[in-house]
Amino acid sequence: MPIETKTTCPYCGVGCGVIARVDDDGAVSVKGDPDHPANFGRLCSKGSALAETIDLDGRLLHPEIDGRQAGWDEALDLVAQRFSGAIAEHGPDAVAFYVSGQLLTEDYYVANKLMKGFIGSANIDTNSRLCMSSSVAGHRRAFGSDTVPGTYEDLELADLVVLAGSNLAWCHPVLYQRLAAAKAARPGMKVVVIDPRRTMTADIADLHLAIRPDGDVALFNGLLAHLAKSTAIDENYLAMHTQGFAEAFATASSMTFTELMDRTGLGASGLRQFFGLFERTEKVVTCYSQGVNQSSSGTDKVNAILNCHLATGRIGRPGMGPFSLTGQPNAMGGREVGGLANMLAAHMAIECAADRNRVQRFWASPRIAVRPGLKAVDLFDAVADGRIKALWIMATNPVVSMPDAAAVEAAIKACPFVVVSDVLKTTDTARHAHVLLPSLGWGEKDGTVTNSERRISRQRPFLRAPCEARADWWQLSEVARRMGFAGFGYAAPAEIFDEHAELSAFENNGSRDFDIGAYVGLDRESYRTLPPFQWPAPANGIKASASNTTGGGGKEEKARRFFADGGFYHPDGRARFVAVTPAQTDRTSTDYPFTLNTGRIRDQWHTMTRTGKSARLSAHIAEPFAELHPRDAIEIGVGNAALVELKSPHGKTIVRALITDRQTRSNIFVPMHWNDQFASRARIDTLVPPLTDKVSGQPASKNVAVSAQPFAAS
Ligand code: SF4
Repeated sequence: MPIETKTTCPYCGVGCGVIARVDDDGAVSVKGDPDHPANFGRLCSKGSALAETIDLDGRLLHPEIDGRQAGWDEALDLVAQRFSGAIAEHGPDAVAFYVSGQLLTEDYYVANKLMKGFIGSANIDTNSRLCMSSSVAGHRRAFGSDTVPGTYEDLELADLVVLAGSNLAWCHPVLYQRLAAAKAARPGMKVVVIDPRRTMTADIADLHLAIRPDGDVALFNGLLAHLAKSTAIDENYLAMHTQGFAEAFATASSMTFTELMDRTGLGASGLRQFFGLFERTEKVVTCYSQGVNQSSSGTDKVNAILNCHLATGRIGRPGMGPFSLTGQPNAMGGREVGGLANMLAAHMAIECAADRNRVQRFWASPRIAVRPGLKAVDLFDAVADGRIKALWIMATNPVVSMPDAAAVEAAIKACPFVVVSDVLKTTDTARHAHVLLPSLGWGEKDGTVTNSERRISRQRPFLRAPCEARADWWQLSEVARRMGFAGFGYAAPAEIFDEHAELSAFENNGSRDFDIGAYVGLDRESYRTLPPFQWPAPANGIKASASNTTGGGGKEEKARRFFADGGFYHPDGRARFVAVTPAQTDRTSTDYPFTLNTGRIRDQWHTMTRTGKSARLSAHIAEPFAELHPRDAIEIGVGNAALVELKSPHGKTIVRALITDRQTRSNIFVPMHWNDQFASRARIDTLVPPLTDKVSGQPASKNVAVSAQPFAAS
């Protein structure tokens, strides 16, 4: 009898429900889960190819120490001994974890508990730092908490959807399908795309604003100044629920229209059209993604957007609000359990003594980190200069994905002790590990993830774990136990979820928004069949729903939104306007006259370690490319499909030229996915400098000065 299991796609932050079917002969197939509220049965190309990516080719099947197969006990003892030794000799800040939005919430919870509560350092950061940490910082500045106010349904209910720095069609394809379907059904609905490139998303746009890289603060400041002079301002909302409007408005309106055009690179007509649309349309959703976040002014960009929604009171009501789109499947879950170096757990703040005290008492831990730890770029700097003596990397490939990737690789190589927990032994990072620990892959993992709209869904196992592969939470718990720490005796992920739910409600969690306390005491069976739900959970919880497949499903409670009636998480309950000033955005020079922008393509995921296995996905775009404007191509003497060499002060790469008028002059787009495994010298992040946003620590991967010239083989 074939067995069907309801689970969740492991790729992007849309978090689509998947039904995986295993036939009697072991063949696996997937289809969209019609009951899952994120996708209602849809899947994109990556999701529908999931069954093609779960073979054992390249799998890490046993623990390894210095390249030789080892037993779990020997490997775990060594990890515990080396971490304990480094801490004893150099203090808790001499060790670090670098984890991933691929981890399940239960894995993340245990990693964070071990590092912050028992080791006593906050040196745990995640590749989600590269993805959405500017949104987290912007939310916390404006709302007093990291809360996404709206839901996916808002994109369908809006009369105007603004997509800023988001190639939704390729990066969040099912959400794009939902938006495109809503627009087709309601021709009056408008879509504005703000992006230096005319991406595939712009194909459904009524207006495409080809903004200058990093021109977003100026654009949304200009919009705020425009709105302030119109009737769109919600005076009542401003007075009742916000603080700081006058200063934000004064800063925004200090720019002349000519300066606005100059800073954004946009013409008067496009700007006026956009401002007029936003002013006249009550139901507006502004979605933003990596084009906003991955910037040295990412947090300011986020707050410039939030300012416009707060000023008009268009937040938390159906079809209205700012909406941060997370890149990874569990970026949001990581935020919930404090997987970022500057957060604690259950959305509590590491800077707050009462929060620290609450978490430490709940964990009964011997200590608690008292200050934020090292964020990703700083963390690898600390590895490079020898401050970090022991590093544990889980489910991520920083040798390819970090900015200044060659320097990161050199740092990892030089680190005295590196542990890598991964599914594959063939990643560029795994090569440099002293200890390799085999982890579970998609289809074997058991736990929860949270998508961009705060919806918690189960990832359920439907395949037997190969050989000695074990869950990441188990690996962490075993090392914690061997380091002499109590409180890690988990027998199953359901027990970790239960503890996480209990902490979310412990002593009212300082009255913060994140609360899944209704799920405390969920028994194993109810956890197994847990249907998707949004937080904050309703008081009586949703224990499980009837289903004829393995795993819960079913339509659930109505959408939950925040802040329509204020109720922000600053002590006075009011949101904060943040006065933001546009930064200098042009980094080009005579030697490096082009602006490089990196990003995703439709059919690959991150460093291709999984999607690269599917011939079907690789057929979409077979090799890396540099998207160039035709005039630029003529000027540098590069023909279509010819090889072009791109250089920055940090590195160089050689890719094929793709000449297209979708690109704007002096800008070059290169996908982020390829690594040395798939195409020689194609690691684009070797060119990206370790420049970060000063508030969030998020790297600026979208605005890199480079040179471009035809490649001549020597
Ligand atoms: Fe998976 Fe994202 Fe595609 Fe949904 S949209 S199937 S979550 S990659």
